[in-house]
Amino acid sequence: MMKRWIERIGLRLWKMRPQTQLPDSESEELIRIVNLCKVYDTGTMKVVGLRNINLSIRRGEFVAIMGQSGSGKSTFMNILGCLDRPVIGHYYLDGIDISEMDEDQLSFIRNKKIGFVFQSFNLISRTTARENVELPMTYAHVPKKEREERAVKLLERVGLGARTEHMPNEMSGGQRQRVAIARALANDPPLILADEPTGNLDTASSIEIMELFSALHREGATVVVVTHEEDIAAFTQRIIRFRDGQIISDEKNEAQERKAEEKGRTS
Ligand code: ADP
Ligand code: MG
Repeated sequence: MMKRWIERIGLRLWKMRPQTQLPDSESEELIRIVNLCKVYDTGTMKVVGLRNINLSIRRGEFVAIMGQSGSGKSTFMNILGCLDRPVIGHYYLDGIDISEMDEDQLSFIRNKKIGFVFQSFNLISRTTARENVELPMTYAHVPKKEREERAVKLLERVGLGARTEHMPNEMSGGQRQRVAIARALANDPPLILADEPTGNLDTASSIEIMELFSALHREGATVVVVTHEEDIAAFTQRIIRFRDGQIISDEKNEAQERKAEEKGRTS
């Protein structure tokens, strides 16, 4: 029953693939955003969240989104993460036109295509690290045994192999965020999004978390991180700056490229 339902949704998504050329799911381009605008209607007035954003992100990129408070970073991330839809314009993710999706389709896409990491970790308390990591797989109807094994593997991957049965309140902030990263990886999504993932962490834990994202990036993951700290953005390959709901710059992180090249030469 459930399986048929999933197949039906899958078929609907397939039918809704954009009729324009590229990007399709084989394309190098994972994200394409065209003339995107977002306006909040508060009832008494309209607030512009984003103005005419055009952007594309290739598979395997490691991107930082920067800008002052109120510049539109979270609005942008919520759209990238399919928590919200653009009012005007198009968002293609992995070959699918998100702008056309209904709520059920969006939650299906969130579960399959996106791994989220939040500033405040958003783990379920009184639930072990392993069970937290299992949750997205439960929604995706992965069988119990497979779910448990994969959760343990992912926790080992983030350096928490010895803490799979710990509760969030028995862990440090840095460890909690690593559980959240393992959870984000649960369904092997093509896109990992993190909105100020180090905002609640001390410097040492922040560096650990960014090194973990860097390692995932080297393994081929596409990672987009929001931060207002230059030190955190310095870990990424590309820095996109927002102001008043617009992109004001989009540049390669040259320092990071040099570092990666040097690493390549010495290893
Ligand atoms: P940032 O994450 O860069 O701090 P936001 O994306 O949260 O910025 O906000 C961008 C703009 O949209 C701001 O002017 C903010 O006040 C407005 N905004 C954000 N969320 C809402 C909302 N739910 N309702 C009304 N206005 C909002
Ligand atoms: Mg924000």
